[in-house]
Amino acid sequence: MPVTHKTTANSGDVISTDIWNEDHSITSLIPDANDTYTIGNSTNRWHIAYINQINMLNTPSYPLNIYEQATDSYPRLRIADTGLIEWSDGSGVPDVNLYRSGTNVLKTDDSFACFSLLVNGATVISSTRSMYNIQSISLGSTASSGVSIDNNGTIEIWKTSGDPYIDFKTSGETNYDARIQKQSDHSLTFEVGGAGSLKTPLTLAANGNAEFSGNVIISSTSPMLKLENTSSSSAFPRLEIQNPAITWRLGLLYTNNPTFFIYDATRSYSRLEILYDTSSNATQFKWYNSNGSSVMRLDIEGDLWIDGEYNTYSPEIPESWNQKDYVNFLKQQLNKSHPPRKDGKKICICGKIGVCEEHIQEFNEKYAINISSIAVVSAKLIVDLTNKIEQLEQRLSELEERLNQTVG
Ligand SMILES: [Zn+2]
Repeated sequence: MPVTHKTTANSGDVISTDIWNEDHSITSLIPDANDTYTIGNSTNRWHIAYINQINMLNTPSYPLNIYEQATDSYPRLRIADTGLIEWSDGSGVPDVNLYRSGTNVLKTDDSFACFSLLVNGATVISSTRSMYNIQSISLGSTASSGVSIDNNGTIEIWKTSGDPYIDFKTSGETNYDARIQKQSDHSLTFEVGGAGSLKTPLTLAANGNAEFSGNVIISSTSPMLKLENTSSSSAFPRLEIQNPAITWRLGLLYTNNPTFFIYDATRSYSRLEILYDTSSNATQFKWYNSNGSSVMRLDIEGDLWIDGEYNTYSPEIPESWNQKDYVNFLKQQLNKSHPPRKDGKKICICGKIGVCEEHIQEFNEKYAINISSIAVVSAKLIVDLTNKIEQLEQRLSELEERLNQTVG
């Protein structure tokens, strides 16, 4: 049967097996690279094309369908007339798509898997799932809301209502166990202790103070330094310095006479007390020995009371001094008067209340007597006088003997 090759397609035209049978090729229908050839026209379009027994060019909705095999129920790939591209596994309805969703936007409604991700020319997620080249990350709707991190290393936490905080939770806990929170007064609080019994041991206050509400402890085991703000006793606050051998306690006694004390907490002995008491003869300092017995005190007048002996090194008394020098020294010391006072305080030689630093040497030379020198000079004088008395007794005894001989 003669075959008439068409130069244009009409509705209902079929590239039939007749053509295959006659020509064994369709080169006369499909142009080679140097030809131009029109298949169909604006009103008459090829919309069904069977290749390998499968309809490849189908309905107006999906003009292009790619099947893997004739038994495929759905095309492996199809392109809709809207530009939508869809894929299937051949048996089910196409379930993966890719399309233009708006101006300059390519979209899929399904998961997208890729080896790595580049944005605007830069890798932001590498094939090993490292993320970088990120300018900023924000969990809010703008760059400065929610939690934001920028590429300069700044982390910011924003809250539209209430004060932002960081909670630390352990798996299974329904409420926070520990929290760092910014307060409305711009302070920062550190809360611990678990839900229902939260404590705030540390507040970094807006005025720059670090405020501890509990004890401050350096090392929880001995050796330990512990600053206690309260105590069941009346002694507070107090500082404890502890090593395995001893615990020293420095603190304040809240009594009628506020007292600072140093205490041997291991043996429960006071070692030093500094008291505030302005009454006459009131003790100002009080020392205790290792057994807790009082050994020395200093009162408000400056009087020193010691329970033991007073020892000092020998004062420098000139070797050349004779009995007359001793007597002159003692007279000079005895002639010194008590320094004048006003309101219990010494008056300086310049008239000021309290002894000036620059006049202290002069003041002491005028008023202070040298106890140890007096003691030594007195002793030397006694020894000298005793020697002289012995010599006199010897002379008297000799004279008495001679007188008896003369009389006899
Ligand atoms: Zn003075």
